[in-house]
Amino acid sequence: MSEDRKPEWSDPSEPENFSTSIKKGEEQEGQSIVIEKNIVYRKRESKDPSVEALVEGVLSGNRGQLARAITLVESNAEQHFHKAQELLQKLLSHSGKSIRIGITGVPGAGKSTFIEAFGTFLCDLGLSVAVLAIDPSSSLSGGSILGDKTRMEKLSRNPRAFIRPSPTAGKLGGVHRKTREAMLICEAAGFDVILIETVGVGQSEVIIRDMVDFFMLLVLTGAGDELQGMKKGIMELADAVLVHKADGSNKEKAEQTRKEYSRILHFLQPATKGWASKAYTCSSLKGEGIKEVWGVIKDFEEKGKSSGVFAERRKSQQRDWIYSLITDQLHYSFFHHPEVKLKLPQLENEVMAGKKTAASAVDILFNTFLSDQKL
Ligand code: GDP
Repeated sequence: MSEDRKPEWSDPSEPENFSTSIKKGEEQEGQSIVIEKNIVYRKRESKDPSVEALVEGVLSGNRGQLARAITLVESNAEQHFHKAQELLQKLLSHSGKSIRIGITGVPGAGKSTFIEAFGTFLCDLGLSVAVLAIDPSSSLSGGSILGDKTRMEKLSRNPRAFIRPSPTAGKLGGVHRKTREAMLICEAAGFDVILIETVGVGQSEVIIRDMVDFFMLLVLTGAGDELQGMKKGIMELADAVLVHKADGSNKEKAEQTRKEYSRILHFLQPATKGWASKAYTCSSLKGEGIKEVWGVIKDFEEKGKSSGVFAERRKSQQRDWIYSLITDQLHYSFFHHPEVKLKLPQLENEVMAGKKTAASAVDILFNTFLSDQKL
């Protein structure tokens, strides 16, 4: 029976929203009881908690508030942007204490299986782990390579772990701004280890490298050709290469592949000053080599901290952050400028038809863009 319909047996003189009795509702978190015209409502509190409430929640490790804080920085709504920045400003001094680890590899390299095994191993050591993802596909197509699968089920149930699927791109900065800010929030919440995952398809490795302390590349065996063709650039970013799925009949081959990668790494520029990147084998299914990977990372951290390289990199990452935001912001403002949007298709056609040079088209667009900018 709907609440505003009188039962047949009621007094006809009673109003339509008649009620026989008012029971005191039980208050739940995020709800308050409202009585209006004899009807008891359970009113949900506004979904937007204050910045102070979020700061307090995040610092005390409250998962709900942590998730809300990340949602706020991921929001594409302009009014959330300023609130998010205020929140980050307040959390900034509490961040920076985690070790930040980036993990990349082609689809199918076993990244999620590895993170599940590695994350669980770290939780068993008593550490807390936050997993974030940068999904390059979401910024290009709006689709998602990483987000669709049911991933890391076991780790997601671990009370020491927090897994956040990748954000989608939008205005006011792409996925990397959001991931970087989500990372700061997780650090303020006290996570010991931050794992940032991305699919190795080019661009995103560079972005991830700029955010993390330690960067590793997951590769597979039997990839001799791939090894030849693999962009030297990606290998040069890695602090370690893990030859993954080194189990069963694949074990021997994995060892062979490891040697090949080690040989190549030996000739490359080191990704981190003073650190010799090496290749290792590992099996997430068998849980082999996982402990060793953590040993390598701890060694890296120790050496980097005592030499000062660790702090130096973090500082330069902070500086680069400004530039990546400027690039984001310029890109967004330019392509969303109403007149630029209007003129672009026509100019594009003219350039394609050979009637105009690309440079002169760009010149026109920039003059349009800059004409109403306050200088
Ligand atoms: P992602 O796309 O890189 O995240 O890869 P997934 O973690 O989804 O793994 C892809 C496939 O590789 C799955 O079928 C896994 O079961 C398998 N796989 C992952 N890790 C291992 C491993 O250590 N050994 C073996 N043999 N298979 C693995």
